[in-house]
Amino acid sequence: MLYQSERKLIVTILKKMVDVGLVINTSGNVSIKINDYFLITPSGASYDNLSPADILVMDHNKQIIEGKLLPSSETDLHYSLYENRSDIKAIVHTHSLYATAVSSITDELPAIHYQIIDLGGPVPVAPYETFGSPELAAAVVDKIADKNAVLMQNHGAVTVGDNLDIALQRSILLEWIASLYLISLHSGQPSFIDNKKLKNAVEQKQKYLTLRQDKKKQS
Ligand code: 13P
Ligand code: ZN
Repeated sequence: MLYQSERKLIVTILKKMVDVGLVINTSGNVSIKINDYFLITPSGASYDNLSPADILVMDHNKQIIEGKLLPSSETDLHYSLYENRSDIKAIVHTHSLYATAVSSITDELPAIHYQIIDLGGPVPVAPYETFGSPELAAAVVDKIADKNAVLMQNHGAVTVGDNLDIALQRSILLEWIASLYLISLHSGQPSFIDNKKLKNAVEQKQKYLTLRQDKKKQS
């Protein structure tokens, strides 16, 4: 069986997604890109009893190399994102509650918290299209630019990263920021962080990353 450890990683990530409440039933899907191959969850997967052997390995022509089940209905979406951005190596798609709620009320999740910098700034919302359609894939690609997250109107969320742990962390963060936004909207008139201040936060983050690395090297 190809890519045993990566298959196991996907199953572990799926269980985490269930544990932290990002997915219910069979919603959402996950993929990773390794060289010219793609590992993707099967369609209608029940995450509780999915095994590494159920993960599909596909090539760049969307041909199944290994796997007996039907690949995710959002395979086009995953492929289109990989094609569009060579830095993307992992994708997480969920129907998480707060992110989906936000997708139905705005065309952008604004900078309600500085941590939105980890998502690449305010999160765009792609207009509604049928799940699993090439139109949905095109709508998400159209919105992602250099961001790490996109909301899909009345559907859910997509996050990307250069590995699956980071893509998952971003889904968790997106859900938290979406919940913060909704709570703030319901409590009064929230303020938002402007782009200049967001840029300062990016620089501050970089500074502390470097400081932490230096400290580690010294110890
Ligand atoms: P799949 O089970 O086919 O991956 O579909 C779930 C989903 O979230 C569709 O948008
Ligand atoms: Zn979906």
